[in-house]
Amino acid sequence: MMIDLRSDTVTKPTPQMLEAMLNAKVGDDVFEEDPTVIQLEETAAKMFGKEAGLYCPSGTMTNQIAIKAVTESGTEVICEKGSHVYYYEGGGIMSNSGASVKLIEGNRGRITADDVIKNINADNVHFPESRLVVLENTANRGGGSCYNLEDMQSIAAACKTHNLFLHLDGARIFNASIAKNYSPSDIGKCFNSISVCLSKGLGAPVGSVLLGDKGLIKKARRIRKVFGGGMRQAGYIAAAGLYALNNHINRLVDDHKKQTHRINFKIM
Ligand SMILES: *Cc1c(COP(=O)(O)O)cnc(C)c1O
Repeated sequence: MMIDLRSDTVTKPTPQMLEAMLNAKVGDDVFEEDPTVIQLEETAAKMFGKEAGLYCPSGTMTNQIAIKAVTESGTEVICEKGSHVYYYEGGGIMSNSGASVKLIEGNRGRITADDVIKNINADNVHFPESRLVVLENTANRGGGSCYNLEDMQSIAAACKTHNLFLHLDGARIFNASIAKNYSPSDIGKCFNSISVCLSKGLGAPVGSVLLGDKGLIKKARRIRKVFGGGMRQAGYIAAAGLYALNNHINRLVDDHKKQTHRINFKIM
């Protein structure tokens, strides 16, 4: 058997996950009537101590919606130079939100509260208005590096002081929480919005959830529709994500043990 190590996205559902998909109760999610999608959104939100969630087709979409919800043309996003939101999302910050980007050279994809503070623009007509900070945990181009809880907390405090929104690209947040031994609710307290991928190490075929307070998610739902991400009987795929949240998080412990033997390959 060949094992494809290009990415943790190259997965297929287990028989149990497929069974959960087949048995899903569904409705039209654009009318907010799909019980499985609602259950997935509520389950994910509760884990991170957030008020609400929004199921989307991809992590690119959850990130781009989160950015668009709090920025506008003439504002600026602060992030690390290899951030997925900047490097791998086709220039979406510019084309979707018209926002500028301030890039920080971090340590394997991670930045510090000091980096954030130094990169906030002065309130002066020459500069775009600093509005949002995005962290990535684990950091993809950092080769899976992850933040300590205290560092995220310091950045969150700096953002609060300086009136900046803070978004987490948590495509692989459970890998970080397991490796560093902090809980999703510890993480939830630091961020205004969080994107979590169900289709990476968790093994669902598709989907990501965006988490935040009710006001943010209401706005995000509008933006999702404009982006073409309003789905109908999405419960069939949401069931796989829900199954993954309920059954596959602890499986990452095994993955991490195997990673000890990992050869060097380019991580996408
Ligand atoms: C994979 C990934 C995403 C989202 O990717 P999609 O393929 O659009 O689901 C976002 N951020 C990071 C760090 C990722 O690795």
